[in-house]
Amino acid sequence: MENKILGLHHITAIAGNAKRNLDFYTRILGQRLVKKTVNFDDPKTYHFYFGNEGGEPGTLLTFFPWEGINPGRNGAGMATHIAYSVPQGALEFWKNRLKTFNIDYKEGEILGEKMISFQDPDGLELEFVEPKKPDNRKVWTTEEISSDFATKGFYTTTLTLNNADATSKVLIDLLGYQLQQEDGNRYRFATDAIETANLIDILEDPSAGRGINSAGTNHHIAFRVKNDDILMEFREKILSAGLNITPKIDRDYFYSLYFREPGGVLFEIATDNPGFTVDEPLEELGNSLKLPKQYEPARTQIESLLPDLN
Ligand code: ZN
Repeated sequence: MENKILGLHHITAIAGNAKRNLDFYTRILGQRLVKKTVNFDDPKTYHFYFGNEGGEPGTLLTFFPWEGINPGRNGAGMATHIAYSVPQGALEFWKNRLKTFNIDYKEGEILGEKMISFQDPDGLELEFVEPKKPDNRKVWTTEEISSDFATKGFYTTTLTLNNADATSKVLIDLLGYQLQQEDGNRYRFATDAIETANLIDILEDPSAGRGINSAGTNHHIAFRVKNDDILMEFREKILSAGLNITPKIDRDYFYSLYFREPGGVLFEIATDNPGFTVDEPLEELGNSLKLPKQYEPARTQIESLLPDLN
C-alpha cells in the first residue's frame, strides 16, 4: 500500500482578492487556515492553505489570490469542480447557511448521492456531497459550524476533458486508479490505497472549449504519496511513460513533482512529509505569516506589499 498514490493531496486554485477569499473559506465554509505563506515565485502574493484541523492531505484547498486578476473560464483540460464530503444529513444545514449569505446553490445528485453545488466569490465550482459510505475524518469546527455539519475534506474532483482516453490511461496505468463507475459521460475512478479523497471523476465533453486559467478556476490537482522516496519512484514511472515531469521541488511543507497529463490538466504529486507543523505548532497553524527561508531577510518589505486582510 505504502508505495501507492494515496488519493488527493491538495488542489490549488486562483482567486482575485485575498481578503474575500480568506473570509469565504474560513468564515462561511468553516475551513481552517492551516498555512499563511506567499507564492514562492511571487512573494507579494499570498498563498493560503485551507484544510481540517491538522491540515491533512486530502483536505487541503490552496489559493493564490492575485489582486484584481481577470476571471478565468472553466473548460476542457481543467479540474473544473471540487467536491467535499459532508456528514449525512448536513446538506440541510448548508442550504440554510448559504441562503443566509445570499449564495445561490443547486440541489442534485452525482452518481446517486445527494449534493448541492455553488460557487465561491470568484466563481470556483464547489460541490458538497453526502456520501453513502461513512467518512470518519477529523474536522475543524467553528462557533457556527459543529462537527455534525463540518466538511470532511475532499470527496472527488471532476476533470472536464474533450476525450477521456489518454487521461484515464494515466490514472490507471501510472497512478493506480481503477474505473469504478460510469454514467453517461461521467467516469469515476478510485484508488483502493486509501478510504477518503480517493476518487477522480472525468466528465467527457467533446464540444467543451478550452478552459482559461485565471480567477475562479483550478490551477492544478496534487496526488498524495507517503514520502520523497516514493515520489521519485513515480517520477521514474512517469518519465518512462514518455511524459515530461519536473525535478523534485521543495515546497517547504511537502516535496513536489509536476507533470501535464495528456488531457491538459496540470497534475502534481506531493508528499506527506514534512507537513504543516514543520514551522509552527498545531494549535497555531495559520496564525502568522510564514515565509520560505530565501524570503525571510525581506520580511518587512514583503509584509508591506501583501494586501491587507483586515
Ligand atoms: Zn500544488
